[in-house]
Amino acid sequence: MLFDTVVVGAGLIGLAIARRLQKAGHSVMLFDQGRAGGEASWAGAGMLAPHGESFPDAYWTRLAHHALAEYPGFVDSLNATIDFRISGAIEYRPGEQLEFPDEAQVNPRDLVAALRPGLSVAENTRVESIKTVPNGVSINGIQARTAVVAGGAWSSLLPGLPASFPVRGHMLAFEMPSGSLPQILRRGHTYLLQRASGLTLAGSTEQHVGFDRSLDNEALAELAVRAGELWPELAGRQLDDAWCGFRPATPSGVPEVHQLPGSPLWCAYGHFRNGILLADVTAELVANDIVAALASD
Ligand SMILES: Cc1cc2nc3c(=O)[nH]c(=O)nc-3n(C[C@H](O)[C@H](O)[C@H](O)COP(=O)(O)OP(=O)(O)OC[C@H]3O[C@@H](n4cnc5c(N)ncnc54)[C@H](O)[C@@H]3O)c2cc1C
Repeated sequence: MLFDTVVVGAGLIGLAIARRLQKAGHSVMLFDQGRAGGEASWAGAGMLAPHGESFPDAYWTRLAHHALAEYPGFVDSLNATIDFRISGAIEYRPGEQLEFPDEAQVNPRDLVAALRPGLSVAENTRVESIKTVPNGVSINGIQARTAVVAGGAWSSLLPGLPASFPVRGHMLAFEMPSGSLPQILRRGHTYLLQRASGLTLAGSTEQHVGFDRSLDNEALAELAVRAGELWPELAGRQLDDAWCGFRPATPSGVPEVHQLPGSPLWCAYGHFRNGILLADVTAELVANDIVAALASD
């Protein structure tokens, strides 16, 4: 069978692109070297915080604000139970306290669970290379007219692609009474947010250690202190969970979201600290581009 598109990587970015293409009537298949949504899209906190994050340029800043405005519609369109709320955020800067009432939070694992059904994903299947053939591409023996690389931090391990690299981030989790932390709290690189269940997440770290999955206990202890300073309810409290994940970074800081010139291949990776926020707007850009390209083919 000839697919319209094969997507390499079934994280939030790949799943959101595949869903939009499928909705447009295209045949799509995804490959993931592990579990769909099992990497950064599992580890992420889920702050939807364009005011609190920095973006590489004016275009991505605008897109981030647009993504926040579009998020309720995206969540509604999934028709699933998703822990999403426009909670607002409070940010402490030296001498001032800023409020961003429009900022929101989402559990990215709920998004993965909602996006995954109905999509054809070959899990535990690594793509080693993408071969260009006369009518498109050949990937793991599957032929497609176009392909998207949405492999997160691993993307440029595939030959010939713009560079990506991992930046490890840790999260801590504390079981707290549900509703006890209504807003996102931030100070510098420390932030707190609370799932509907009460599970309260504290982030994070930025470590350049390659794909080392081990937890850094010193960094966790330091993060726990920062979390307790930000919200005294957490000070000295026993940790209930901790994990880490690999943010997909690029050398310029600009996500790679474009067609590779003269090829049937699109890049969609490098969203670093904001891939949960930017997932569906990225999907819209890439899917529209592919639909237009295939229509004129
Ligand atoms: C600790 C932490 C906190 C974060 N907090 C936030 C936040 O609050 N808000 C926010 O917006 N973002 C946040 N992020 C960032 C966000 O999680 C990522 O930007 C986003 O999840 C990236 O999605 P992705 O689909 O590109 O990557 P991933 O979720 O990593 O998915 C890539 C997938 O590609 C697969 N893959 C890679 N190479 C291959 C191959 N060759 N063959 C087959 N499969 C392959 C991988 O197995 C993986 O499943 C956070 C990240 C971390 C780590």
